[in-house]
Amino acid sequence: MFQGLLIEKDEAGYRTSLQSIDETLLPQTDVSVDVQYSTLNYKDALAITGKSPVVRQFPLIPGIDLIGTVTRSDCSHFSVGDTVLLNGFGVGEVHSGGLAQKANLNSDWLIKLPSGFSPRQAMAIGTAGYTAMLCVMALEKHGVTPEHGPVLVTGGNGGVGSFAISLLASLGYTVVASTGRVDQADYLKKLGATEIIDRAELSEPGRPLGKERWAGAVDSVGSHTLANVCATTRYGGCVAACGLAQGYDLPATVMPFILRGVTLAGVDSVMRPLADREQAWQRLAEVLDVSLLDDIVQEITLAEAIPAAEKLLAGQIRGRVVVNTNK
Ligand code: NDP
Repeated sequence: MFQGLLIEKDEAGYRTSLQSIDETLLPQTDVSVDVQYSTLNYKDALAITGKSPVVRQFPLIPGIDLIGTVTRSDCSHFSVGDTVLLNGFGVGEVHSGGLAQKANLNSDWLIKLPSGFSPRQAMAIGTAGYTAMLCVMALEKHGVTPEHGPVLVTGGNGGVGSFAISLLASLGYTVVASTGRVDQADYLKKLGATEIIDRAELSEPGRPLGKERWAGAVDSVGSHTLANVCATTRYGGCVAACGLAQGYDLPATVMPFILRGVTLAGVDSVMRPLADREQAWQRLAEVLDVSLLDDIVQEITLAEAIPAAEKLLAGQIRGRVVVNTNK
C-alpha cells in the first residue's frame, strides 16, 4: 500500500481524496518508480476538481508530472536507482500519474533527470517550464529574435507565464507581461518583465487588426486574448499558443495572418517526441536562471494538493506548486 490522491467517479459522484492505495491498482508496465515530487498544473487542477473532463478512466491517480527513482525495470535503457522524469503522455488523464508515492510507467515516456538540475528543481520547472521552453523554441524557429522587438507573455503570474518571462528575459528579449494581478508587478519584474499590462486590455472582443505592438507572444490564455494578441502582433511575427485559461475558443479573423504574415504556432507538450523533449530540457539547463526558482515555487504535501487545486483555478496561486509526495 502507498499514499496517493485517487479520483473516483460512480453513483456517489466525482471525488478526489488522499488514500492508502493498493499497488494492484497500478497498470502493468515495464518500469516502476518511487515518486519523489509531482506538481500541480492547470490540467491537474481541472482533474482534481472535476471542473473539466480531463480524466477519462476511473479510478485514477492524477498528476501529469513526476520525478522519481526506478525500483523495477524490464527495459534496457533504465536501471534500478536511476532518477527519471515524466511530463505528459496522458499520465494523470488516462494512466495513473504522479500525485502518489508510487507509479508504474511505460519506459518510452521517461527521460533521465536532466543534468544540471536536482530532482526538486526539475519538478519545480515541470510541465510549465518545459512548455514555456517549447514556446520559446517555437518563436525562435519562426525567426523572432530580440532585435525584432518586445515579446508579450500572457497569464504572467501562472506557471507557464512565469517561466516564459524568465526564459525570454535570459535570452535577451524585452518582455511585456500581461496579468490580471498587476499588484504582482514586483514579482514579474524580478522574473525579467520590463512592462506590465492589465490583461483586461486584451480579454474583450477586439478588432480584426490593431496597432502592431509585439514581435512575438507566448499565450497560455486563448479565447479573445489570443485573438487580440494575433491582431496586435507586428508584421512577420509569431504567436506561440499553448493554453486556454480564458477559454478554448478562438474568436479571431484571418486578417493578421494574410495581411501581416503572422504565424500562429500551436504548442503541445503532452505527445512531444523524445528528441524535442531532450532538446527542451537541455535548453532549460543552459538558459534558466535557477536562482529564480525559489521565487516561482512553493512546496506542498499530497493532502494540500486538493484545496490548492481550487485555489489555482480561482487564480489565487502565483507561479508553480511542487508536491512533495512523501509528506
Ligand atoms: P496557471 O493556472 O498556473 O496559470 C494560468 C494563468 O492564466 C493564471 O495565473 C492567470 O494569470 C491567467 N488567467 C487565468 N484565468 C484567466 C482568464 N479568465 N483570463 C485571462 N487570463 C487568465 O496554469 P499553467 O501555467 O499551468 O497553464 C496555463 C495554461 O496552459 C492552461 O490552460 C494549461 O492547460 C495550458 N498548458 C498547456 C500545455 C500544452 O501542452 N499545450 C502544457 C501546460 C499548460 P494572471 O493572474 O497573471 O492573469
